[in-house]
Amino acid sequence: MSARENLETIRAAIAVAESEAGRQTGMVRLVAVSKTKTADEIRPVIAAGQRVFGENRVQEAQSKWPGLTAETAGIELHLIGPLQSNKTADAVALFDVIQTVDRVKIAREIAREMEKQGKRPALYVQINTGSEPQKAGIEPKEAGGFIELCRTDLGLEIAGLMCIPPAEENPGPHFALLAKIGRDNNIDVLSMGMSGDFETAIALGATTVRVGSAIFGARQSI
Ligand SMILES: *Cc1c(COP(=O)(O)O)cnc(C)c1O
Repeated sequence: MSARENLETIRAAIAVAESEAGRQTGMVRLVAVSKTKTADEIRPVIAAGQRVFGENRVQEAQSKWPGLTAETAGIELHLIGPLQSNKTADAVALFDVIQTVDRVKIAREIAREMEKQGKRPALYVQINTGSEPQKAGIEPKEAGGFIELCRTDLGLEIAGLMCIPPAEENPGPHFALLAKIGRDNNIDVLSMGMSGDFETAIALGATTVRVGSAIFGARQSI
């Protein structure tokens, strides 16, 4: 199957999941995760009408997206991988959405860069719903305090939440937890669900799903 055909399949599956969940058709946004894929592999997906893309590395995104966005208007680029502080300026300059605000230091640096560049990407806070020691993200019990600090002390608008459930677990409880943290903090945008579990995520309230391999095919590496 071509990436274009895969994209159609995923769009149709999203529509079914929306309808089964009693959610409005077309309300779930699809972020096509293009990490490790070349500009030539991405172009057919853009040609098929997809405009929202996710990348997990700042440097890799810098090497391919300025060219692609010059070719096609209206591309929206999301950072979905961990942000290192020495890449904050580049990330604020390149991305429309940073989904991985995951610590006070990075939130401060983003705030400073936004001020300096006069550019304000939308920000989502990443929540470590499985409290995995090796995984980025704010601990669920600290989410309220962190969001409050971002809003009040740093003047940042927090537009959404994102999570990556533990690979070995049923993702459902993690999606439900993210939805609860959203309700508790008046945050409507929930970025959750990937190729293997986006339908479950939609059933549990995802407003944004991040799908890579089901569109572009398997990756050699991540
Ligand atoms: C790679 C990645 C995805 C996409 O994963 P697939 O299983 O290929 O759909 C989604 N979210 C994040 C944060 C990723 O790093």
